[in-house]
Amino acid sequence: MTQTKQVIGRFAPSPSGPLHFGSLVAAVGSYLIAKSTGGKWLVRIEDIDPPREVAGAADVILRQLEAFGFEWDGEVLYQSTRLERYEEVLNDLKQQDLVYACDCTRKQIFAQREDRVYTNVCADKNLTDTKDVAWRMRHGTAPQDKGNYSFNDHIQGHCQFDQSIYDEDFIIKRKDGLIAYQLAVVVDDIDQGVNQVVRGLDILDSTPRQLRLYEALAATPPEYYHLPLALDKNGDKLCKQHGAKAIEPENASALLVKALEFLKLKKENVSSSMSPHEILIKSI
Ligand code: GLU
Repeated sequence: MTQTKQVIGRFAPSPSGPLHFGSLVAAVGSYLIAKSTGGKWLVRIEDIDPPREVAGAADVILRQLEAFGFEWDGEVLYQSTRLERYEEVLNDLKQQDLVYACDCTRKQIFAQREDRVYTNVCADKNLTDTKDVAWRMRHGTAPQDKGNYSFNDHIQGHCQFDQSIYDEDFIIKRKDGLIAYQLAVVVDDIDQGVNQVVRGLDILDSTPRQLRLYEALAATPPEYYHLPLALDKNGDKLCKQHGAKAIEPENASALLVKALEFLKLKKENVSSSMSPHEILIKSI
């Protein structure tokens, strides 16, 4: 008999502001999909981009999750504590010549191609490791189809992108010295044993890049579930940068029911008169 592996899912907010309805949807979706098979649900704070961070937001997010009845497994992981690990992985990739330095400015990249897709012009330059370079991951050879990291998403179905996404050597360390989201997220998911990634559809086109990293790091990618996005009344994605309203603990039960309805996961025996935790437990 084959034993199925325990699911390890996660919710990985960036502390660029408090959680809003869109992030609540991602939290509820990732929690329920992991818990429905008895899986674990981790919380990771993605705080490696100081210019985009709001002081105190990480704590606010954790208090919001508690007030909304979520219980996470293990300790919260802060990406800011993992910088040495990311550098270690970057160095391994350098040693294998899977990355290269790029000194192009935004202006130069724009001049190369109008849609700003980078044309890998530094790939063979062998620029030395100076401070003013970004590090780019060489696009690779996915098993079936060279450089084609299409994948099957459990919600969106088969996902195939424009070839430019597969061909572009993407940044894993920025020119300003900050580790890029793509590298940090993959290294953490691998190190934390995450095998189920449930997140918003806005991140869908990062997935082929992340699959490239899984290949380069010889690790098994997780199962992907990209959730539909909650939109504001103008049809735009709810996001912190556009001032989406923070979710308030006073309305926790009603907002949870709304999130469940949005995800089409609301069961008949669940109502907003219940406590937030009860709503979540009954929804598993
Ligand atoms: N930190 C990202 C965000 O808040 C989510 C990353 C992910 O789920 O892979 O949008």
